[in-house]
Amino acid sequence: MALVVMKFGGSSVADTDKIKIVAKRIIAKKKDGNKVVVVVSAPGDTTDDLLTMADKITSNPPAREMDMLLATGEMISIALLSMAIDAMGEKVISMTGPQAGIFADAVHTRARIKKINPQKIKKQISKNNIVVVAGFQALNPKGDITTLGRGGSDLTAVALAATLKADSCEIYSDVDGIYTTDPRVVKDARKISYICYDEMLEMAGSGAQVLQSRSVEIAKKFGVEIHSRSTFNENQGTIITSEEKIRRDKMETPLISGITFDKDNVKFTIIDLPDIPGLAAKIFGRVAKIGINIDVIIQSAVVNKKIDISFTASRQDMKRTRLEIDRISSELKAASVVCDDHIAKISVIGIGMKSNPGVAAQMFEILHRKGVNIEVISTSEIKISCIIDEYDVLKAVEALHKGFGLSKEN
Ligand code: ADP
Ligand code: ASP
Ligand code: MG
Repeated sequence: MALVVMKFGGSSVADTDKIKIVAKRIIAKKKDGNKVVVVVSAPGDTTDDLLTMADKITSNPPAREMDMLLATGEMISIALLSMAIDAMGEKVISMTGPQAGIFADAVHTRARIKKINPQKIKKQISKNNIVVVAGFQALNPKGDITTLGRGGSDLTAVALAATLKADSCEIYSDVDGIYTTDPRVVKDARKISYICYDEMLEMAGSGAQVLQSRSVEIAKKFGVEIHSRSTFNENQGTIITSEEKIRRDKMETPLISGITFDKDNVKFTIIDLPDIPGLAAKIFGRVAKIGINIDVIIQSAVVNKKIDISFTASRQDMKRTRLEIDRISSELKAASVVCDDHIAKISVIGIGMKSNPGVAAQMFEILHRKGVNIEVISTSEIKISCIIDEYDVLKAVEALHKGFGLSKEN
C-alpha cells in the first residue's frame, strides 16, 4: 500500500463547498488503495486577515502571541475538513502541528523544523485513519507554538513526506502546476511538465508564491519529488525533481524555464557614508541581528571619500529596517537615508544559462526595447534579476516571456 502526502492550500479550502470537494478527493485517493496523510492551510485569506487584525491592535505585537494567533487559521481547516471526511463515511483524525510531532527552533513567525516524531501519525495510519495535519505550525523547545513563515504548509507537507518516506508528495492548489510565469497575470503562460529543484528554488525565492522556497530546499535535500497540481481538475501537473533525473530521461531542458516578478521589495539607499573599512560588515551585521533578510546590495564608487550603499529588503520588514538604518546612518554620520517602495524585481531563470552565455545581454536588450529602466542587476548561476520601477512590471514580464520564447505559440 502506497503512502501519499496530499497538501491543500488556502485557496482550496476557502469555503465549505471547496472543503467538501477536497474531502471527496482525499477519500478517492484512499479508496484507490493508498494510506493518506493530508496537510492543509488556513482557509482563503484567513492568515492575512489575522495579520490585519493584529495590526489594528498594535504595531509591535509580541512574536509569541502572533504565532498563537496565526496558528488558529490552520486549525479551522483541519477541523472542518475532518468533519467533511467523517460525514462522507471515512475514518479520519485531525492533528495540530505539535500533536503531529513537529518540532521547530525558537524563532517565532519563521521557525525552522528541527525534528519530526512521526509515531502518532503512523499509529493513526495503522488504524486505517486518514490523518489531517495543520500545516505551517510546530512546537518550539519552550513548548510554545511557532509558525514556519508564509506559505509554510508546503514545508510541513514536504517535511512529513521525507520523514514518513512517502511514495508521493502532491501539492494541490488553484493552478494545475508550475507555469513559465504567473498564469493569473500573463494569460500566455505555459505549464511546465518537469522542473528541477534548483530552478524551482530560484523561482520560489524570486516571487512565484506557488511553492514556499524552504519547502523546495527540503525536497532537494531529502530527494522528495513534488507533484504540483490542481484541486479542481485531474490534469497532470508539474513534477519537481532532480536535474539528473530530468537529464537522464531527456526531458525538456529549455534555456529559460521561467520569468518571475516580485513587488514585495523596498530599496533603501544610505547617502554619503564615510569610506572606511568594515562599513558593510557593520551595517549588514546590525540588520541581520534583528532578523531582516537583505536581497540585492550595491555600493557606489568613492567620491570625495564618500560612498552610497543601496540594498533591498522585504516590504513587510520596511518599518523595522527603516528604524535600524536611521540609527546606523546617524551613528556613521551619513547625509541621509532614502526609501523607495515603488520598485519591483523581475528575474529570468533557467539551468540552460550555465552553458549559454549571452542571456543577460538578451534580457537587457528586451527591456531596453520596451523602454524599461534597470536600476540594479544581480545574478546567480541560473538567474538574472533586475530591479525596475514597479509600474513597468507587466510590460517587462510580458516582453521577457515572449522574447525568451516561452509563449504558447512556441
Ligand atoms: P495555495 O493557496 O494553494 O497555497 P498560493 O496562492 O500560495 O496557493 O499559490 C498559487 C498561486 O501562485 C497561483 O494562483 C498563481 O497565481 C501564483 N503563481 C505565481 N507564479 C506562478 C507560476 N510560475 N506558476 C504557477 N502559479 C504561480
Ligand atoms: N496560512 C499560511 C500562509 O498564508 C501558511 C500557508 O498557507 O501555507 O502563509
Ligand atoms: Mg501557498
